[in-house]
Amino acid sequence: MTQPFDAAAASAAYNNALQVIAAVEPTVAGAIKAELADQRSSLKLIASENYASPATLLTMGNWLSDKYAEGTIGHRFYAGCQNIDTVEQTAAKHATALFNAPHAYVQPHSGIDANLVAFWAILAQRIESPALAEAGVKHVNDLTEEDWSKLRRAFGDQKMLGMSLDAGGHLTHGFRPNISGKMFNQSSYGTDPETGLLDYDDVARKAREFKPLILIAGYSAYPRKVNFAKMREIADEVGATLMVDMAHFAGLVAGKVFTDDFDPIPHAHVTTTTTHKSLRGPRGGMVLCQPEYADAVDRGCPMVLGGPLGQTMAAKAVALAEARQPSFQEYAQAVADNAVVLAEGLMKRGVKLVTDGTENHLVLLDVSSYGITGRQAESALLDAGIVTNRNAVPRDPNGAWYTSGVRIGTPALTTRGFGADEFDRVAELMVDVLSSITPTTTSAGAPSKAKYVLADGVADKVRAASAEMLDKHPLYPGLELN
Ligand code: PLP
Repeated sequence: MTQPFDAAAASAAYNNALQVIAAVEPTVAGAIKAELADQRSSLKLIASENYASPATLLTMGNWLSDKYAEGTIGHRFYAGCQNIDTVEQTAAKHATALFNAPHAYVQPHSGIDANLVAFWAILAQRIESPALAEAGVKHVNDLTEEDWSKLRRAFGDQKMLGMSLDAGGHLTHGFRPNISGKMFNQSSYGTDPETGLLDYDDVARKAREFKPLILIAGYSAYPRKVNFAKMREIADEVGATLMVDMAHFAGLVAGKVFTDDFDPIPHAHVTTTTTHKSLRGPRGGMVLCQPEYADAVDRGCPMVLGGPLGQTMAAKAVALAEARQPSFQEYAQAVADNAVVLAEGLMKRGVKLVTDGTENHLVLLDVSSYGITGRQAESALLDAGIVTNRNAVPRDPNGAWYTSGVRIGTPALTTRGFGADEFDRVAELMVDVLSSITPTTTSAGAPSKAKYVLADGVADKVRAASAEMLDKHPLYPGLELN
């Protein structure tokens, strides 16, 4: 991050702010300080995390937060929204320019909310007068499975086809624990059992059989590019709306790493995203869409969203302005290049990767050959100061809780300035940990899926080696908290 940052002035300002907070609730001030210390001293490899710029972070702590502004720009249900109009308009302007999108709706509070807005907008745009009351809907918490199917029938029993969870899809793409799995009759496509890659012929076959209203593309844990031009052809053939959830890879779209067939914006009817992952903005969501969906998308609040968060929309505007700088394209390319180095560094040291590589910002390790679960790997890596998350691999015998996989990504450490040599060293350190884990047994004598022993000295050795690299790339350099 190359923003003007007067370290002494910023340190004084942060220390003052923390004193104000501590005077009311010292525990919270302590947690804020501790979080900075933790983030500074660990190798953050969580694929969905990043470090927002000082400008983005500073935009969030202010009085824009105190204003109610339900409605849309210039058309609010509250008086006095001129400043919220300004920030929302600025964020939308940067979003449409950055992504070359006809329309942007920047109110969603998160990625899940952005998807909900998109689902309701597609239903509203595609389905005529759904008669909810006629379906005898009672309080939503009391709905049984039968009620939900009654509700779906009122909407014409609409169908969604998305990537299966274990192939790397997201919960909001029609799975039971999420509202999308209740609203829609869902079916999913997976990946080729041999290569781990998306099989477009299989997606087309399933789409022809299932005839979804929504064909959804996008993922949380698929380490490859998706050809959105092909997905659109499939959607058009079966009369589906193509919705792309680019939450994970929005930074690679913004940074022009994913172009042409791999850029979702010109191909999808509706594209949703988070703003805090590879895009490096504040926690939040956004919907980008073709003009025919714009009116329905703009009804997100109050249809499914609470009042917009003025401070977060302002921070989205700042982060999107940053992403329009040429340096963001260099960053995005470095994220992708570093992911290749990390993947190759792991593979040459014997680690099995899902799809044997990566084409985006993430790498999915299959740790089963070490005789451990993803959960044991995640915990042992954390003991050594490497922050990752366990993740199911396709057809995972250990299920979604223990898993056989670990998902890692390069957006955060690339923001910190890590380059190819350092990512290769990160791969080496990860292998040092993975190869030093011994699972323990449960009280019944069976191998534990959670407990393990990490060989003596490994955590300290890895932490010391990481500290050398982290010290060369300080986070918010010069910012000293008391
Ligand atoms: N969509 C995808 C593909 C995601 O990976 C995620 C989060 O991990 C989300 C949506 C949800 O984002 P949020 O946590 O901001 O609601």
